Amino acid sequence: MVDSISVLGCTGSIGRQTIAVAEHAGIPVVALSANRKIDLLEEQTRRLHPKLVAVFDEEAAAQFRTAVADLDVRVVSGMDGLIEAAILPESRCVVTAVSGSVGLKPTLAAIRAKKRIALANKETLVCAGNLVMRAAAEEGAEIIPVDSEHSAIFQCLMGRGKAELKRILLTGSGGPFRGLPREALEKITPQQAVKHPNWNMGAKISVDSATMMNKGLEFIEAMHLFSVTPDDIQVVVHPQSVIHSMVELVDGTVIAQLGVPDMGLPIQLALTYPERRKSMFEHLDFTKLQGLTFEAPDLEKTPCLALAMSCARTGGTAPCVMSAANEVAVHMFLRGEIGYNRIYDAAAAAVAAIPAVETDDLDEIIAFDLEARNFVKAYFA
Ligand code: MG
Repeated sequence: MVDSISVLGCTGSIGRQTIAVAEHAGIPVVALSANRKIDLLEEQTRRLHPKLVAVFDEEAAAQFRTAVADLDVRVVSGMDGLIEAAILPESRCVVTAVSGSVGLKPTLAAIRAKKRIALANKETLVCAGNLVMRAAAEEGAEIIPVDSEHSAIFQCLMGRGKAELKRILLTGSGGPFRGLPREALEKITPQQAVKHPNWNMGAKISVDSATMMNKGLEFIEAMHLFSVTPDDIQVVVHPQSVIHSMVELVDGTVIAQLGVPDMGLPIQLALTYPERRKSMFEHLDFTKLQGLTFEAPDLEKTPCLALAMSCARTGGTAPCVMSAANEVAVHMFLRGEIGYNRIYDAAAAAVAAIPAVETDDLDEIIAFDLEARNFVKAYFA
């Protein structure tokens, strides 16, 4: 179990749940970072007494510094501040719960500082999977996935050699619009899209779950985390979200990880690993389960998943471009600026317009990310 953590993105859904788990387990939180909900950040800072708080926006950081002037805490800002929070010497583990590609640099810095990474930021592996996994191997830094599916796969593979793995069965609920044709989704509102049937999550990832782009991003992440090819991963729609993913072994045995759909569980394991501790979460009651069902994803109705799987095969900068374009489009949708189906259109158009290249240069990857963002803004201008 780790004895201290930094939480990047502490006011978001995963960040708040991480803090609840850490407080329950008695793990000190020594650094925080946030860019939104500054009132909540102040409340967290007063309760947890971190040594360092990073507020991304310069002006908000200045205001925050004044607000907590009575406390013994250093307030930093910008990307440098975020990186400082990621590599703070007093911290043993960094929970990367920031949303978007802003998580890339601090995660790499934390790996170089040999921290344990409790990885909750999807873009890190989607944009720079090769680079990040190689850096982690070089530094001997642990990457423990927090996403429920990858945590499940990680748990199913514990103590097993790569040669035993036949394939990964990546499960997904199918989201709130499962089975609906694209035409029926034309008028979907942000309020409808963020209501996930099983999981309580932030707005961006809830929309990604509805489009199944989330499963596509997870597909790409799984390739990197477990060093497998696209052919080694099968997406299985499992609407009840009781099984959080499975692995099939070479002898035909399937091992699944089950539990209540609560992100607190994978968060806790990422902090206590390799130990298991009593948790504050509900346990599964099999006598109350109404049955577990499975089906193949309908790629015609979920073009975002199909696009992500195609980008996974293309490799290089294709996943990064797709993810960045999707991120901008989702935020535009959430602001009511574009319709639901335009999210896929924008991501697909960006992938078609920006040819993929193979690169492990972080600045070049970030340049592709920016190009995709600008492309989507121009696309809807
Ligand atoms: Mg997930």
